[in-house]
Amino acid sequence: EINIDGLTKRFGDNTVLNDIDLCLKPGERVAIIGPSGTGKSTLLRCLNYLDRPDAGTISIGDLSVDAASANRKQILALRRRTGFVFQNYGLFANKTARQNITEGPIVVRGLSRDQAGQKADEVLAQIGLADKADSYPTALSGGQQQRVGIGRAMAMEADLLLFDEPTSALDPEWVGEVLDLIREVADGRQTMLIVTHEMQFAREIADRVIFMDGGRIVEQGPPAQIFDAPQDERTRSFLRRVS
Ligand code: ATP
Ligand code: MG
Repeated sequence: EINIDGLTKRFGDNTVLNDIDLCLKPGERVAIIGPSGTGKSTLLRCLNYLDRPDAGTISIGDLSVDAASANRKQILALRRRTGFVFQNYGLFANKTARQNITEGPIVVRGLSRDQAGQKADEVLAQIGLADKADSYPTALSGGQQQRVGIGRAMAMEADLLLFDEPTSALDPEWVGEVLDLIREVADGRQTMLIVTHEMQFAREIADRVIFMDGGRIVEQGPPAQIFDAPQDERTRSFLRRVS
């Protein structure tokens, strides 16, 4: 079980995350929607300590990290249990697809080069890019690059996978293959938190949809409830604008 308690993040006097509480069940798939500038990316980044929260506790299994006392060791342990998929793929330009996938397991999980290589080959087969193992990102299509981005998170064998608008930088022709891959990953045991502007995808893949606005969770529930019978006026107005 993953527990987020009182997560707060400020940039100067701008409170971007305002006391967020969230509990995720193992294997649960949660979609986060909401207007631009609302703190969705910041929430994901704080969960991985890519941004350091100002307050709050993140617990994954027996690991508990409190912003007031988080040390390097705890932050590394947290990163070991999370995988992050970025909007702009976030691949190392000077590394091949295979090296991009082995990097995290070697550096963060402490696998040997051989072990990480073996895992990478499994993952490359799963993401359908075994034949592109030695290609550099510039030689891959947007869709292929993002599949490597997802493969990299898969190779971490993390408890929690964080997706930040994984298809929004893609040309429309590549969106389908990336969503298909996320659907496949979603069949596994990992908990997934997906920020997305693809409402149809959120409806189909999520067990729960969270609507965020102004650094807070405004409303959450099963997709049918949020999309077909939203309770809050802010949710209704957002959905009118995006649909
Ligand atoms: P979008 O849908 O456009 O991706 P978002 O919900 O992901 O928006 P965030 O990127 O989390 O929003 O940003 C929330 C707020 O935090 C914005 O007002 C943004 O300007 C501010 N912010 C984010 N990162 C920083 C930073 N490094 N320094 C200062 N302000 C920041
Ligand atoms: Mg964002």
